[in-house]
Amino acid sequence: MKKHNFSAGPCILPQEVFQKASAAILNFNDTGLSILEISHRSKEFVAVMEEARALALELLGLTGKGYHALFLQGGASMEFLRVPYNLMKVDGKAAYLDTGTWASGAIKEAKAFGETVVVASSKADNYTYIPKAFEIPTDANYFHCTSNNTIYGTQMNQFPETNIPIVCDMSSDIFSRSLDFSKFDLIYAGAQKNMGPAGTTLVVIKEGLLNQTGRSIPNILNYQQHIDKESMYNTPPVFAVYTSLLTLQWLKNLGGITAIEKNNEAKAALLYNEVDRNPLFKGTAAKEDRSKMNATFLLENEAHKTLFDNLWKEAGVSGLNGHRSVGGYRASMYNALPLESVEVLVKAMRELERIA
Ligand SMILES: *Cc1c(COP(=O)(O)O)cnc(C)c1O
Repeated sequence: MKKHNFSAGPCILPQEVFQKASAAILNFNDTGLSILEISHRSKEFVAVMEEARALALELLGLTGKGYHALFLQGGASMEFLRVPYNLMKVDGKAAYLDTGTWASGAIKEAKAFGETVVVASSKADNYTYIPKAFEIPTDANYFHCTSNNTIYGTQMNQFPETNIPIVCDMSSDIFSRSLDFSKFDLIYAGAQKNMGPAGTTLVVIKEGLLNQTGRSIPNILNYQQHIDKESMYNTPPVFAVYTSLLTLQWLKNLGGITAIEKNNEAKAALLYNEVDRNPLFKGTAAKEDRSKMNATFLLENEAHKTLFDNLWKEAGVSGLNGHRSVGGYRASMYNALPLESVEVLVKAMRELERIA
């Protein structure tokens, strides 16, 4: 039976990427070797790394604009630590916007390095909205925000104008919508939400941002080391980088971010229209802040839970349960999820209304 994978991450990737990645496990680019056994220093893999770094910048519209792209390890969570290590000055301070569990995880790490100002938080309302009126201290070394809050289903539509560098965790909406990415000084994203399998993190860094802290930074945590070594400071996650490259190539062939954005808008509109129309459901996030990647919703009446769960499971829908901290349902509609899968889910919601 065809599965409709709404998992929040690791998540659905294009079928063609699975096929190409599988073929490369047996015979990578006609080398007669598996992608899993080739040297990361071989010219074939160096070419993969170079193309992946260049294509990431190209898709973001950052080619030739003074940015470096890296494929690192440790997940987005590692960047929670690496960002303050590399950007917060000794005796400096950093500003953070608290929009959820991941943002507060980043704040926690920053606190170990120095004064960490939380400019606003929606925690008191269980992160159901994005705070908008806040002031960023102009003497902070950087401002950190989370563009899409995977767990709560909220997404930032506006980013503050500020004279200090902006750092953004885009783990769950990178490559899903057009933004002026040149407004950001550092962007990071764990691959497993919209770019590839778990195991690598894309980090995009603007030139001139680093080497100003007065801190001594261990090599493995030092972005400059990774830039100097062209993302090969140590053995990179070869298979995760290769599979991410395949996904980026797929996206480029589709027409890039502007093309996928139209699909993503159509999928989100279809699902949210049903959440709003169907009297048995309600959305959890503030309407103006709803995420086009992760839609969170609840049943009006918990008594319908078993019936609804059976309906969507029977339809082949998978990965719909909400995060354990929120409950309810979460439909993650990343780039590779087809519109057809959202249609199947909406049909199950209508069926519930009909029979409940
Ligand atoms: C999943 C997620 C993370 C954590 O990613 P790991 O790769 O598991 O460390 C951080 N930020 C956001 C927005 C996420 O969605």
